[in-house]
Amino acid sequence: MSKAKQLSLLLPDEVDGALITSSHNRRYITGFPSSAGTVLITRQQSYFLTDFRYFEAAQRVITEIKCVEYKKRSDTLRELFKIHKISRLAVEDDDLSCAEFKRLGAELKGVELCGGILDGLLKNLRLVKSPEELKRIEQAQQLTDHGFEYILPRIKVGRTEREIALELEFEMRRQGADAVAFDFIVVSGANSALPHGAPSNKSIEQGDLVTMDFGGVVDGWCSDMTRTVAVGSCSDEQRRVYDTVLKAQAASLLVLRAGLPCIEGDAAARSVIDSAGYGGCFGHGTGHGVGIEIHEAPRMSPMSGDEVLREGSVVTVEPGIYLSGRFGVRIEDMVFITKDGCRDLTKSSKELIVL
Ligand code: ZN
Ligand code: ZN
Repeated sequence: MSKAKQLSLLLPDEVDGALITSSHNRRYITGFPSSAGTVLITRQQSYFLTDFRYFEAAQRVITEIKCVEYKKRSDTLRELFKIHKISRLAVEDDDLSCAEFKRLGAELKGVELCGGILDGLLKNLRLVKSPEELKRIEQAQQLTDHGFEYILPRIKVGRTEREIALELEFEMRRQGADAVAFDFIVVSGANSALPHGAPSNKSIEQGDLVTMDFGGVVDGWCSDMTRTVAVGSCSDEQRRVYDTVLKAQAASLLVLRAGLPCIEGDAAARSVIDSAGYGGCFGHGTGHGVGIEIHEAPRMSPMSGDEVLREGSVVTVEPGIYLSGRFGVRIEDMVFITKDGCRDLTKSSKELIVL
């Protein structure tokens, strides 16, 4: 069953249809990447509306819903609203700015725009990956694992973080990644204590830990992985921190399964870090969902509330310890949640590598 059909079946009685305007959800529903276009979901039939620039290409890719070319979007929508008797329409209010919501209201005057429905439905659909979607994510991860293997012998004293990030990206693109999933993080020495530091012109030095957080995109589906390696040598303390992060990750991987509260997936890793005396040095959540977007539901953090893991979700497990001004370690794998456990999609070694 097409995604559009699945979504139409989930629509509550209080609305007659749904309008998808965000690029990620548009791509999720249609499989077609575009910077412009609108998906209209109705109970009888769904449409992808786009302009001259995309119409021909869209027709080739989108077979499950009807492609319509518009000159003026509001005119075409009004015609379709009439055909399908739409007077109440669910919109992605999470994604619309206040100004966009107002503009849309003015454009579609006469139709009531309903918030608080569509984002949740799409989130729930996207939480569970189909076999085809999982395959794309695995392909993206294979390219990412390859990138790690490729870059290891190229990490040398005197080379800059920026150079390493660029070479990693170039190789992954060369091997078939459509894009990078996010701006790569390559941080070394004291910079590695910055969980989301950007690659700088700092040269890698003897004794540095180098943390690399990177991922690729295949057909719109992302991968995400982090490894930390040592250059030249590794102090006892660096090793202790590394081992603690690795143990924390293993503890979380051990408990993950469908039905587990996300908060417990986080706590499993966090408690290892806390009891090793590094409480307070792990300031982010243990993991997040990955899919069409690099960060999506579910979140595994102390703030996850009553959210539980679903069978078929893809989540990262990425504990870290960051010692301000000194060094940091993060290890991140991406796993597929199954009924009674999880399957690790990341194949790269996690033993501490001293280059
Ligand atoms: Zn990452
Ligand atoms: Zn991540």
